Amino acid sequence: MATYDPSTFESRWRAAWERSGCDRAPDLPRGPKFFNYDSGPFPTGPLHMGHVRTYALGDVTARYQRLRGKCVLYCTEWDAFGQPNELAALREGQSPRAFTQRWIGTMKRQLQELGVSYDWSRVRSTCDPEYYQTTQWLFLDLLERGLIEQRETDLAWCARCATALSGFQVERERCWRCRRRVETRRLKQWFVRIGDYAERLRKGIDRLEGWSPSIRQQLQGIMRASAGRVDGERGWLISRQRSWGTPIPIVHCEACRAVPVPESALPVRLPEDLDWSVGAGALAAHPDFVRTRCPRCDGPARRETDTLDCFFDDVWCQLSCLLPVGPHPDFRAARVRAWLPVDCFHSGFDTAAYLHLHRFLGAVLAESGELDDPELIRGHFGHEMVLARGRKMSKHLGNAVSPSEILRRRGADPLRVGILWASRPHKAVDFRPQIIDRAERLLSSVHALYSLAAEMRLDRSPATPSPTPPSRSALELKRRALRSAERIGGFIEGYRPHAAIAELNGLVGQMERFALPRLSTSRLSTADRGLLRETLEAFAVLLCPFAPHLAEEAWHLLGNASLVVHQRWPEPHAPARAPRTDRRLVPLLPREPVGCTSSVLPEASRSRTSARRRDSGSAR
Ligand SMILES: [Zn+2]
Ligand SMILES: [Zn+2]
Repeated sequence: MATYDPSTFESRWRAAWERSGCDRAPDLPRGPKFFNYDSGPFPTGPLHMGHVRTYALGDVTARYQRLRGKCVLYCTEWDAFGQPNELAALREGQSPRAFTQRWIGTMKRQLQELGVSYDWSRVRSTCDPEYYQTTQWLFLDLLERGLIEQRETDLAWCARCATALSGFQVERERCWRCRRRVETRRLKQWFVRIGDYAERLRKGIDRLEGWSPSIRQQLQGIMRASAGRVDGERGWLISRQRSWGTPIPIVHCEACRAVPVPESALPVRLPEDLDWSVGAGALAAHPDFVRTRCPRCDGPARRETDTLDCFFDDVWCQLSCLLPVGPHPDFRAARVRAWLPVDCFHSGFDTAAYLHLHRFLGAVLAESGELDDPELIRGHFGHEMVLARGRKMSKHLGNAVSPSEILRRRGADPLRVGILWASRPHKAVDFRPQIIDRAERLLSSVHALYSLAAEMRLDRSPATPSPTPPSRSALELKRRALRSAERIGGFIEGYRPHAAIAELNGLVGQMERFALPRLSTSRLSTADRGLLRETLEAFAVLLCPFAPHLAEEAWHLLGNASLVVHQRWPEPHAPARAPRTDRRLVPLLPREPVGCTSSVLPEASRSRTSARRRDSGSAR
């Protein structure tokens, strides 16, 4: 019997998903929709374990909702502009653009290897002109609404990063990126008057029923703070004295003072040829960028050389995968209205400030009727970080464990299941190799069971109906699978993936106790064979959100030509118009096609699958 070796099948199933287009979302949802969004990473290096945790959690929700028949849009963005990327690039002596593009390429490949099922055609990068054109439009729109102003005031300043920082980016009086103690400087800067919306944002917190209590508490804390200190009554500081960012669409003229760039002249492009040896002031040192004409009087003028903070770039990120690329974002477009709000937004527990800003934008756009509902995010799933030997895992501390090494040597599914099973999401995971070992043992048992089933030709349906009824133990196994389906669904919806995997583990034990002695001695009645096969099919579907590659392989070992990602979650109750048979014999898996995706494999892939099925005896 073949041993469990993910390297022999994981990439094959990813290619099959790609061909089937199962991760692509239509522009308008067909049937009930589910908009699932992961907060995007800073592309400053390869994937780390914290990323694996974030994106595995997001992917479980997306895959589960597809199996529940929802039309799923699952997306993220590359948080590519701003202080984190610029500093990391300059530290390595590279241009931020080349550095960022290199790491976007690496991270995308790693996320694909992990099996994260984004609709990649919609994933944008905040540093692309077609993205930051809308960021600049948003700046001008808020300016026109009187919600952006330029003021001179005392601000937090990081001397090492050579930039002013907003209150959201100062942690215990230290810079959020380099940890240097901040100083106070008096500077003229751009602010968003977010305090104007404090009262309505505070009142709205009660409506955020689908958010983790901890994040809601933090939002309350931010509201209290913004009533008194931080940038609060002064607003949200959005300009930075750095050059790797969205250029602020403002021109300074002697006669007209600060003049907004007309919408028709967007985007104001960040030059490709900045001299990064200058450091923070590279943009101000680029004469062709700085020298311009005033849009109002056509006199000589100077462009604003501060850039927008990366939190500003990101404040509309979940809209970026819905809006058509263009100069004037149409928030009232049918597809925006059909997909909003985000049904589940995934981000760390340390992102409350960032979520507060998203709520601000929603409130502004809803006020002018551009959005129907001020809350852009209906559900939020927060999680804690990954530690190593009790300390935050980081390259800087030298204790980072590389997911790419585990992906290569152990496979994607053991990594996903290991990190998800290790702890409830709201607790930190202390990473140990045993986490992966335990997941591998579970997945090896699953693989062995399906390999045995394939050897015993469980993939073949009996030619004649069973003359004898199924045994009590076979019926009990099927009932257990149904109970598990209901429990696992509840655990996923309640953000308890660790409990869902524990339930899968228990079900594997019961399947083994029933199947191993009977399959290995061929002591199975026709009716019991049928029930065992149904249970194994149902289990493959239950496994799919967590270990999608092995689920697909298991489904295939049962001789199925379709993909498991196109199946339906086992129903806990018989359908209303069940055939006139014993309810206990109603099939576990509903047969309708799933959600908005095709339920059939492309013809070429189907014939390949059939060929493998025919060869199964010799292949294994
Ligand atoms: Zn700093
Ligand atoms: Zn002028």
